[in-house]
Amino acid sequence: MNQGKLLYAGKAKSVYRTDTKETLIVEFRDDITAFDGGKKDTLKNKGSYNAGVSAFFFEYLEKHGVKTHYLQMLDNNRMAVRTLSMIPLEVIVRNIAAGSIVRNYPFKEGVKLDPPVIVIDFKDDSRHDPMLNDDLIIALNLATPQELKKIKKISLEINRLLSALLAKQGILLVDFKIEFGRQGTTIRLGDEISMDSMRLWDTKTRESLDKDVYRFNKGDVMATYNSVAHRITGTAARPAGAKKKPGAEEKEGHGSLRQAAKPTAKKR
Ligand code: 5GP
Repeated sequence: MNQGKLLYAGKAKSVYRTDTKETLIVEFRDDITAFDGGKKDTLKNKGSYNAGVSAFFFEYLEKHGVKTHYLQMLDNNRMAVRTLSMIPLEVIVRNIAAGSIVRNYPFKEGVKLDPPVIVIDFKDDSRHDPMLNDDLIIALNLATPQELKKIKKISLEINRLLSALLAKQGILLVDFKIEFGRQGTTIRLGDEISMDSMRLWDTKTRESLDKDVYRFNKGDVMATYNSVAHRITGTAARPAGAKKKPGAEEKEGHGSLRQAAKPTAKKR
């Protein structure tokens, strides 16, 4: 597959055309940002951790009947995906009160939200991603009522699947943000699901295992991403900076995170 022209560069990922109209390449860069781009850094290997975890989740979700844009990993940072027409909504599913919901509403941090709370923001940096409601989404023609119903249903299913998967690794899925796109009339999960877009807490210690470590200077963000990425995918974490010997295989689990997941079926 040949990488073509740059189509779009976001804060942490770049999207490229390929020689096939139906396929794009997403590159997970080492850039990290927070607070609407107010805090920025480039952290070596960060892109590969997020790419590996996203690929792992996309494969898991596909296996459990959720349609995603994922096709295969091309290398540690680049993922081949189906071309979607993206819907400019940020769908946030919350299981535990944290972050903006605690700042904006009278929730106590750490309180369980049962049933989970879905919040949908308008993906528009120039407006700072304002929160929407169903009527606004329909009035703005961002999605039809049927699409919105489907998006919420898929989001709750993803929450159910990933919460259970992470619980087995001693991780609480506090909240996460996902984005969807259309491929014809089919709604597919797009974008990424990674430490940048989830809030994860250790079940026992409740310590942050995600971008909050970077946002709020809670510790060594790359050590956290390294260890949580391997914890999620079931592979042994490599010491920081360690290089794998050529041809050497991981002893267990999903193989090297950096070579990430095997291709899934190429059904369109
Ligand atoms: P909050 O609204 O509490 O800031 O974020 C809720 C969840 O959605 C967190 O897991 C956060 O990482 C994710 N999230 C919210 N907005 C964005 C965004 O613009 N980009 C990414 N990658 N994640 C977001």
